[in-house]
Amino acid sequence: MSTQKSSFVVDAMLGNLAKKLRILGYDSKYSSSIEDDKIILIAKNEKRIILTKDEQLTKIAEKQNVSFVLIRGNDEFEQIVQINEKFKLDKFEVVTDNSRCIACNGKLEVVEKFRIIGKIPEGVIEREKKFWMCDSCKKVYWEGTHFEKLQEFATKLNDRIK
Ligand SMILES: [Zn+2]
Repeated sequence: MSTQKSSFVVDAMLGNLAKKLRILGYDSKYSSSIEDDKIILIAKNEKRIILTKDEQLTKIAEKQNVSFVLIRGNDEFEQIVQINEKFKLDKFEVVTDNSRCIACNGKLEVVEKFRIIGKIPEGVIEREKKFWMCDSCKKVYWEGTHFEKLQEFATKLNDRIK
């Protein structure tokens, strides 16, 4: 029973939430200068759920039959719990193959070491085994020390919502 993962359009005030959702593998469009009209349009055309703190925007969304979550609070953990209360999300996991680029929401693809020489510090290339590159902005990723923390974040989420 596999359904399409939910996707989101995130308003300008919620950049950190967008980043966390991308790490968790959720396609999350975000721009620091995105306008309300555009958010509604993107949500409509691409069947995305609007995440916003702007009550005014949710009223427009409601009128136009667009899905939304009115986000309260500033903590990303609680914000994701809140999304899950309205739209049941999949079990949370951090699998870099499925993560989205934190910078641009592009897809990550495994990349050979020789292709990233000169792009990231040599020490990292020597130390790490596996690398990913964003198919859009070409940012390079690896599972560094922050990776365990992110997995803990996902585990905590699963514990909280089960
Ligand atoms: Zn990117």
